[in-house]
Amino acid sequence: MISYNPENVFAKILEGEIPTNKVYESDYILAFRDISPIAKEHILVIPKSNYVNFDEFITKAPNEEIIEYFRTIGNITRELDLDKTGYRIISNIGQDGNQTVMHFHVHIIGGEFLGNLDFSK
Ligand code: AMP
Repeated sequence: MISYNPENVFAKILEGEIPTNKVYESDYILAFRDISPIAKEHILVIPKSNYVNFDEFITKAPNEEIIEYFRTIGNITRELDLDKTGYRIISNIGQDGNQTVMHFHVHIIGGEFLGNLDFSK
């Protein structure tokens, strides 16, 4: 497991050093629009605490934080009416997952038909 690098772009967003298009914020969670959306709706949901990826989050975060995190993802999808027609949630993890930002995040993708998962390299 690689250790958390506080210079990653999401850490800078949390520090207020990089602006974002915010969708939701609580004491523990920030959600904002992806800078390079792959669909009409593309939201990133991040815990404010520092976890490198899903594995670290799910093994180290307190239960309450995990529950609030995943409930918030559901709340955001309903707020955006994505539950009506469906959507996709994805978390890329590590090298094979092609994770590019080493602060745990889930992508919410939707707002249009998404087709099959694209495994292009
Ligand atoms: P991943 O490849 O799963 O690590 O996803 C990282 C995501 O962060 C990509 O979809 C990027 O487009 C997105 N991203 C990178 N920098 C920013 C930024 N400054 N604001 C919003 N999204 C960003």
